[in-house]
Amino acid sequence: MAKYDVAIIGGGMGGCIAAALLSKLGKKVILLEQGPELSGRAMDFPYKDGYTLELGGHLIVDDGSGISRICEYLGRPFEIGSDNDCLPFWKEDQWHYIEDLYNIDKSEIKKIIKEIVNTDFEEFDKYDNIPVRTWLKARTDNEGIITLYETLSGLEFQTSDWWDNSASEFLWMRKCHYMNKQTAAYSYWPKGGPVKIIESLIDLIKSNGGEVRTNARTLEIVVDNYKVRGVKIQAPKLTPNEYPEPEMIEADNVLSTVSIWSVMDIIPENILPNWYESKIKVLAQDIFRSSWIGFYAALDKPVYAKSPKEISGWLDGPLTHQGGYYYLQSEIEPASAPEGKHLAICGSFVRNPLDMKNKKWLAEKMDLFEREMDIMLPELKDSLWKSRHLVFDCSVFNKPGLVGTARPANKCPNVEGLYFGGDGFQGRGCGLDRTSRTSLTCVELILGERIEELKDTPHIIPSK
Ligand SMILES: Cc1cc2nc3c(=O)[nH]c(=O)nc-3n(C[C@H](O)[C@H](O)[C@H](O)COP(=O)(O)OP(=O)(O)OC[C@H]3O[C@@H](n4cnc5c(N)ncnc54)[C@H](O)[C@@H]3O)c2cc1C
Repeated sequence: MAKYDVAIIGGGMGGCIAAALLSKLGKKVILLEQGPELSGRAMDFPYKDGYTLELGGHLIVDDGSGISRICEYLGRPFEIGSDNDCLPFWKEDQWHYIEDLYNIDKSEIKKIIKEIVNTDFEEFDKYDNIPVRTWLKARTDNEGIITLYETLSGLEFQTSDWWDNSASEFLWMRKCHYMNKQTAAYSYWPKGGPVKIIESLIDLIKSNGGEVRTNARTLEIVVDNYKVRGVKIQAPKLTPNEYPEPEMIEADNVLSTVSIWSVMDIIPENILPNWYESKIKVLAQDIFRSSWIGFYAALDKPVYAKSPKEISGWLDGPLTHQGGYYYLQSEIEPASAPEGKHLAICGSFVRNPLDMKNKKWLAEKMDLFEREMDIMLPELKDSLWKSRHLVFDCSVFNKPGLVGTARPANKCPNVEGLYFGGDGFQGRGCGLDRTSRTSLTCVELILGERIEELKDTPHIIPSK
């Protein structure tokens, strides 16, 4: 008999949620993380001068039916901190409240909301291959509604081609938000940050008897005669030139939550059907990574367009002509800046992520973006310091043709006991919430049954 019921690869939010659910439900689990810390992309980082930089997962896009509901079920609810109170929008050389900018016909938008709310979640699958605009155009000519929705989808999915987001993803999320929060889009900061949620989950996994190992890089998923046997992990090196035998961890099931960009590194060659492997490789192309350049800015006083708690956006920056976002992290998480100081974050979406490999292009674009921010928010010129960053690993674009069944299914089609979660495989939603809902799907697949208490959490239903 294998040592573990389930080996879970990856200690980000997806892996932690899955391990917490499985251990609560009596499975013997081991969670394996290659790095020294758990949290994956949702990491915070103590920076200089008492500032803390949030490297990923700034805001959770969850209407209460996803990650927060799952954590409640686990008995580890987290406290919801601040949410953004408005969305100022830069257009024609000034800031506007987005709702003032467009003439939105109220009866027209109510009709659309009603249709979204009354459509079954599964029915949105039909719109996997069309952009939001195409779906909307069949229902309204009101440019205000179209622009509002396209701006939301651009911000949620960091798409530089803001007109090129999949209608299915967008409508699926709008249904959740309209149903449970009576608003088009709802996001919030979890008090203490995503890392605090992870810490609580790790504590739960351990108290349920689960094992958690860091510095445990999976080298290969071990498959024998199309059945999973476990994983081989890197054994510690005791001398710099030692080449130790990998350690074998036996498990009846393996759930990988590693990103779509690195999952092929741990799958033995010629194991997957070629059509399934191709789906992974298509999505893992650099051209489909949602990417941006940006900077953090330390400030003596808060700088904003309309409200300190805003998240502001634009589709056509005055110099880069790209979309982007700006907000004050210290307003939603005061601990991110020292007393009396403030921390801002902003980014400019990159149309072609391949450009980011070109150092000259990068340097020029970063200069241009800083000058662009000085035009839109001139007080940023007085920043105490700025720290530039580039993001190349946020997520895979939710563009038409790259979502729904274009994504590889969570259960490996030909290897018994092998499952794939994380935010790149099949699933719906955004970022941290998405990977959590996908973990729920994977856990139900492994259990072979639905978790009754979570049947109202929208996610891909395993029987499909
Ligand atoms: C800059 C940035 C900003 C973001 N902003 C937001 C936001 O505002 N809201 C939001 O919801 N989401 C946001 N995201 C996305 C969000 O962070 C991710 O969707 C989410 O963290 C994915 O979680 P995951 O568990 O699926 O994957 P990951 O967090 O990537 O976890 C996978 C883990 O697997 C480990 N791993 C990889 N290979 C191996 C191996 N061979 N062996 C063992 N372990 C391995 C990795 O080290 C990692 O810890 C942002 C991301 C970035 C980068």
